[in-house]
Amino acid sequence: MPPKHFVCKQCGQCCTELTGGYLGTVNRKQLRAWLKEAPDYVGDWVQYIGYGLYDYFISPTTGEYATRCPWLRNYKADRYLKKGFRCQIQDNKPPTCVEFPLTVSHALACNCLGFSHLSDEQVEALLAAEKKLDDPPSGNEG
Ligand code: SF4
Ligand code: SF4
Repeated sequence: MPPKHFVCKQCGQCCTELTGGYLGTVNRKQLRAWLKEAPDYVGDWVQYIGYGLYDYFISPTTGEYATRCPWLRNYKADRYLKKGFRCQIQDNKPPTCVEFPLTVSHALACNCLGFSHLSDEQVEALLAAEKKLDDPPSGNEG
């Protein structure tokens, strides 16, 4: 799960710019959930690779990985016609999407706006706390 204080602004940056973010493998259980949502579509874009795992999203016509996630949808966020993006499979999205961003520094490196509602000082404090967790264990712990 993303770190505490993260709030997705639905800017779509992670789904449109991080092209590798939505690619990966799923197990049979998750694939079944996808098939329920879009049986005609998903079936064509998934390939069984063995060990109970399926590779997604591969174009059935070119055999190449998709360059944009097929589940991304535009929507008008409010009556002032501000636009946003929405994941059509929010409850069943791939693990990489569920986990994104892994850390505050990960979010910043990917231009994710998930912490843009915080002040610079608050973000700095979160980064400092995160940095401490990055330090390798001393060897004298527990
Ligand atoms: S599955 Fe949803 S969250 Fe993941 S890249 Fe596609 S639209 Fe974005
Ligand atoms: S880049 Fe961050 S704020 Fe934008 S949609 Fe992705 S997770 Fe949400």
